[in-house]
Amino acid sequence: MSVKQSLDIFNRIVRDLLADEAIKPVADHLPVSALDDRLDLSLGMDGVDAEHLEKSLRDLVLATPRTATPAFFNQLFGGRQEQAILGDLLAVVLNNSMATYKAAGPQIAVEKTIISEVCKLMGWGEASGGTLGPGGSMTNLMGMLMGRDAFDAKVRHSGMNGRMTVYTSTESHYSTPKNAAFSGIGRDNVRHIATDDRGRMNMAALRQAIVDDKAKGLNPVLINCTAGTTVLGAYDDLTAAAAVAREFDIWLHVDGAYGGSALFSERHRHLVAGADLVDSFTLNAHKMLGTPLSCSLIMVRDKANLNTTFSNDASYLYQTDHDAFNPGKTSLQCGRRNDALKFWVLWKSIGTKGLAAFVDQQFHLADLARDYVRNHPDYTDYSVDETVAVCFNYKGIPAQTLCTALYEHSQLLVGYGSFRDTTFVRLVTINGSNGDAELRAFFAKLEAFVAEHPSLLAAAA
Ligand SMILES: *Cc1c(COP(=O)(O)O)cnc(C)c1O
Repeated sequence: MSVKQSLDIFNRIVRDLLADEAIKPVADHLPVSALDDRLDLSLGMDGVDAEHLEKSLRDLVLATPRTATPAFFNQLFGGRQEQAILGDLLAVVLNNSMATYKAAGPQIAVEKTIISEVCKLMGWGEASGGTLGPGGSMTNLMGMLMGRDAFDAKVRHSGMNGRMTVYTSTESHYSTPKNAAFSGIGRDNVRHIATDDRGRMNMAALRQAIVDDKAKGLNPVLINCTAGTTVLGAYDDLTAAAAVAREFDIWLHVDGAYGGSALFSERHRHLVAGADLVDSFTLNAHKMLGTPLSCSLIMVRDKANLNTTFSNDASYLYQTDHDAFNPGKTSLQCGRRNDALKFWVLWKSIGTKGLAAFVDQQFHLADLARDYVRNHPDYTDYSVDETVAVCFNYKGIPAQTLCTALYEHSQLLVGYGSFRDTTFVRLVTINGSNGDAELRAFFAKLEAFVAEHPSLLAAAA
């Protein structure tokens, strides 16, 4: 098959998908037990002809959950930015590895341009830098490893020496304990700090936990703040955390995988005030910035830390050019996918103002949804203001029951979450391509669905 034939098939299948999405924003629910009946996923000793392949592929694509339509509010990504798709398709065709200038050439400069522009938004100077990694969990790991090595540079040669501790809020992402396990710090040495009733880390409790651990002879090495907690969307106070980090000389990493994109918005940038004071900052462009999965950045105030932790000499790899253009020396991986080009094409095309407008639209949609929920007697609101997560229950129906029924009846994809003792529907307005009408349609659909399925009310509290 030629590249041209592949692209022809691609175009036909995408055309069919877009046509079908317009009629059916949620793909028909496909139970695991029906997979083999409905789809041809088998692999055999002999290949199949082009026609057979195209049919199998079309069936597969049309049966796949639809994350780009106005009925997807499930997880922290969604929508479809055409410009970014163009960039990503070209990255696939080019197939460079972002380790060396020799193998990726100007694509390295594309990545460096993105990092340098985001560092400027952070308020950082010439010493700053960064890289892209395979996702927020992994760029958070990079932050933790740099914190560990900043405390004790010998660890990377001789292994752990004494017990280290890290600090993060009870509302933070599960990648922190996972990364503590990976880094040798250990899950048991993660201190989960209480939050206030808006889901923000309690800074006095943070300071006290550090004091207590130091008194026991432990070694605090990292504070992990969250800019946009996964459930509530809450933003920790970075300025206050930076003061604690300074006092004890501890690395301050910000997990802004979800909400770090507020950096782009003049209206909402105050949520990450103090970003200039932190040591490292994770941001997923595949969440609020609408770039296809995955596109995760880590920015570092002093890029020398990236070299300390991640460089390894390899004469078979780094044969030419200046280190600054051989980002394999500052990355978690060896071969590395070009995740920069899709983001660059999007940014180039709509400008920083366009990205800001996209972020602002998500906050606007969330405000609209919160207004609706707060003014409607059948809803109970649990959300925090100025977040893109709208948390509510409807007519007392358990959130899990409602979300699962909406999914199994192919109505809406929306998830649920918990804060303290309450579980609620979590509507994420992260698809900035949606308008007010799509948001209203969400509530209309939910209400009509419950009206047609009165049995749901039987489960109501
Ligand atoms: C999504 C998310 C992550 C993980 O990012 P992945 O790219 O999915 O690995 C980390 N932290 C927070 C707060 C998140 O919302």
